[in-house]
Amino acid sequence: MTSLLALGPDALADFVAERGGQRFHAKALRRNVVARGVLDYASMTDLPAALRARLDEDLPIFSGRLGAVSEARDGTRKLLLSFSRGGEAEGELAVETVHIPPHKPLDGDGSPRGATLCVSSQAGCPVGCPFCASGLLGLERNLEHHEILEQFIRGRDLGPLRRAVVMGIGEPLLNLENLERALDAVRDEMGLGARKITVSTVGFPGRLRRLAERSPRFQLAISLHTPFQEERDELVPAMAGVPIEDVLAAGDHWFETTGREVTYEYVLLGGVNDSPRHAEALANRLRGRRCGVNLIPYNPTPELPYARPGSGDPEAFQEFLQERGVVATIRWSRGLHGAAACGQIGRAHVSTPVTTISRM
Ligand code: SAH
Ligand code: SF4
Repeated sequence: MTSLLALGPDALADFVAERGGQRFHAKALRRNVVARGVLDYASMTDLPAALRARLDEDLPIFSGRLGAVSEARDGTRKLLLSFSRGGEAEGELAVETVHIPPHKPLDGDGSPRGATLCVSSQAGCPVGCPFCASGLLGLERNLEHHEILEQFIRGRDLGPLRRAVVMGIGEPLLNLENLERALDAVRDEMGLGARKITVSTVGFPGRLRRLAERSPRFQLAISLHTPFQEERDELVPAMAGVPIEDVLAAGDHWFETTGREVTYEYVLLGGVNDSPRHAEALANRLRGRRCGVNLIPYNPTPELPYARPGSGDPEAFQEFLQERGVVATIRWSRGLHGAAACGQIGRAHVSTPVTTISRM
């Protein structure tokens, strides 16, 4: 069965007309769901009751099924969505979206601040980073544009959004058309601007250059993880053989084309890439470039052989970079023990119950 969100404007108008509605009702339907967040037909009182009753039977609003919503003590919530595998295949695919409330509930002017939503771009991921739970799955399939949009609409249903990060499951640059189409709707119909949306990628240089030329509108984060070529070939397997300098050159091109600085993400894996030697080489690569570094202390996944850096090590790494003229911040993940933190989503046992978190 199709869904309201999956149908384009003409197909939706046809669908409505076949059920005794007017073609203009299609616009009202879409506006109710995407712009206003009205998620059941009974509440769409601007539409004829008979039409609503027909649609209620024939046209689910979303194609995904909402499973468990688990909540960490800091209010971070993880939504589990199931989508059909598509084609002939049976069974369902699990995708997760994480709703992260603001650190401070109010803005300077006293108005409430919205949450950050972390969305997935693919079911599974083909890149295969050995430290990432999403990569363990391999790629199941690309998400459709409406499946990405659905995450935004369901996420907003938990509370208003201030910004979004495409840092859930999947590699966005490998599903760019669907992502762009979804983000167009997020901008034009939901009113969340592209500048409020950060796309995180392992940085395929050719695709990045195309993105910069075609749609220089997102904030960009590139997952680098190490300054050493051999090590990156292992930590980001799908990029093996792509020179780090080419990735950085594509980042420079992004800045030159868009005027916005790239953030390099660097997962700190204890005893692997958090040594002073790494910090030194990273600083040498980045010094003089218009960019920042976001250090992400690793969130351990039980089945993977990596550890969190030792206490104080992220700060030492940060300081080392700062002293050498490279701006660096540390991102302490939220929802840590709810298994909703970076790289912990998309695991087999995704329906983790509500648990507590010890630090943010
Ligand atoms: N595929 C894209 C976007 C999704 S991953 C990418 O890799 O950039 C988003 C970020 O989470 C990446 O920087 C990734 O390296 C990081 N990450 C993955 N697993 C992690 C983990 N267990 N702990 C901390 N960060 C992790
Ligand atoms: Fe894919 Fe990103 Fe995980 Fe690597 S870190 S496996 S690219 S989701």
